[in-house]
Amino acid sequence: LMQLFMPLNFLGFAYREIKQGLVDMERMFDLIDTPPEVRDAAQAVPLQVTDGAVAFRDVDFAYDPRRPVLCGVSFEVPAGRKMAIVGPSGAGKSTITRLLYRFYDIGSGRVEIDGQDIATVTQDSLRRAIGIVPQDTVLFNDSIGYNIRYGRPEASDAEVEAAARAAQIHDFVAGLPDGYDTLVGERGLKLSGGEKQRVAIARALLKDPPVMVFDEATSALDSETEKQIQSSLDRVAARRTTLVIAHRLSTVVDADEILVLIDGRIAERGRHADLLSQGGAYAALWARQQRDPAAEETAAPGQEAS
Ligand code: ATP
Repeated sequence: LMQLFMPLNFLGFAYREIKQGLVDMERMFDLIDTPPEVRDAAQAVPLQVTDGAVAFRDVDFAYDPRRPVLCGVSFEVPAGRKMAIVGPSGAGKSTITRLLYRFYDIGSGRVEIDGQDIATVTQDSLRRAIGIVPQDTVLFNDSIGYNIRYGRPEASDAEVEAAARAAQIHDFVAGLPDGYDTLVGERGLKLSGGEKQRVAIARALLKDPPVMVFDEATSALDSETEKQIQSSLDRVAARRTTLVIAHRLSTVVDADEILVLIDGRIAERGRHADLLSQGGAYAALWARQQRDPAAEETAAPGQEAS
């Protein structure tokens, strides 16, 4: 019986290992639910990044043709500026970032980086130009050093450490018994949400892309962690074009433009002070947060936030 059982047991083990690997890969791309088929155009050329300006021009998009998700979305983020997207759950905020990364092709309109239609450039060059700090960073079952270096595999140890310092995770790592060699992930040290997000910020700093997308965590962070993340992010965002899916008003106050997305349409847009004086959905949201600082979701009143 043992002879029969052992190989099966081994197979089970191998299966779990393989499955874990696949899960890691899937979760790395947690901006997408199902990896779609997007191909390079026959004449695709590398994206020529001059300064990293982003534009959406009258973009319509639907995952399912019967159900529009984005309707006539237009905005420009000039090089080095910060745009925040707020709105209720399901409004299409993450979809905008997925389209910028060209996980899907759009129905009509244009998405541009530095004036080039992203559908006409190689996906590889496009994705090299964009850094993403997802809401929930997935760590590989490897050392924390490896996980940070993933942002730019050829980076030196000194560069990894400099990025970790800038992301304010170095002191934490240096304090671990095995330092940068400490194993993390499912089978190693479990990091908190704030620590994982700082690993993601360090990765993004190493990658050093001209365009940054930051999907702010919805989960509550303690105020000290939040401050640290905010200051690390400010470093990542400095001199870079930044799109933030914002869940905290503290993040949007200094944005160059705020888009209030409701049901796939831009309902309001402007700077924080302008939107407040308009007295619309954004102003109501702000008032609600002032009354109840724990209500950190930037959902429109009466709507459930994720
Ligand atoms: P949240 O704040 O909850 O993350 P969101 O504003 O980012 O929401 P999106 O994730 O962009 O919203 O989703 C917009 C709409 O598109 C939702 O109705 C959602 O159900 C739908 N959707 C998202 N991903 C897919 C997908 N892969 N296939 C089909 N529909 C999808």
